[in-house]
Amino acid sequence: MDRERTKDATQVNRYRRRFLQGAAAAAATTAAAPVPSWGGSTLGDVFADFFQDHYQRMTPEEIQETLRRIERKAKRRYGVEIQCKNTPPQENVVFGYAINISKCRGYRDCVDACVEENNLGRDMRYIHVLEMDQGSQNLRTADRYYDRKQVPAQGKYYLPIQCMHCDEPPCVKACPVEATWMEPDGIVVVDYDWCIGCRYCMTACPYEARHFNWGGPRLSGAEINPDTHYLGNRPRPKGVVEKCHFCVQRTRENRQPACQEACPSGARVFGNLLDPDSEIRYVLENKAVFRLKEGLGTEPKFWYYRDI
Ligand code: SF4
Repeated sequence: MDRERTKDATQVNRYRRRFLQGAAAAAATTAAAPVPSWGGSTLGDVFADFFQDHYQRMTPEEIQETLRRIERKAKRRYGVEIQCKNTPPQENVVFGYAINISKCRGYRDCVDACVEENNLGRDMRYIHVLEMDQGSQNLRTADRYYDRKQVPAQGKYYLPIQCMHCDEPPCVKACPVEATWMEPDGIVVVDYDWCIGCRYCMTACPYEARHFNWGGPRLSGAEINPDTHYLGNRPRPKGVVEKCHFCVQRTRENRQPACQEACPSGARVFGNLLDPDSEIRYVLENKAVFRLKEGLGTEPKFWYYRDI
């Protein structure tokens, strides 16, 4: 009986999401009347897109078909061969991040590396570095548009923020179509083909870590990073909510996130929270770490600390 009810609810959810997405697509098609309704794509791919299921409900074969379709669309749109992967989480791995704010100088190299690695439109940022008054933790008075040529400025310190991959993520609870969830390795991901762009998750996130894309990434073929993951940096459709995914295309292959590699001052520590010998565990066990908005109970897997 309960199973039947769950099945019914899943069906209703699917139809509701299809209806909402269909209505949005119809409106967009009407607005862009001179362009063929399939936007230069093949009719077969348009149908397959329409009937594509939620990532977590697709069979391995359906996922593979979807990945190949994304690669074909990227070739048509950007003229480049990309690889769209589906690398799964590793056993006994839960990722966490820590930033030494004594070392951060506000250079924003992490921001630039993130933009390039993750195929972001050049008007989109997953990471913001906040310039803060020394002694203050008031995020409202922080300046995120400071002049990077003047850093580090007298009397200031720098606080990078991005998705904290909360263990109790309010964004996930807010999504009406379950397009976002936490993976077994702790990464909070988005199925960009299932997102309806309602932006409830943006409102729910207390860290301003989610960003609505008003257009698909406007990039030239030369700017595209061809190494992509379905749940990460692959080309996203226009009108969905995006965010940091801990560089899933790299970290599930034992590489560091692009922001960590790019930081010239060694302020960033990323690793496996379940590995007692990892640097992140050393930091958590030996430094006076803190998290932002701790009282909200979101349990971010993202810590800050200072050299004493
Ligand atoms: S920081 Fe925001 S977007 Fe990221 S998991 Fe937490 S609530 Fe969700």
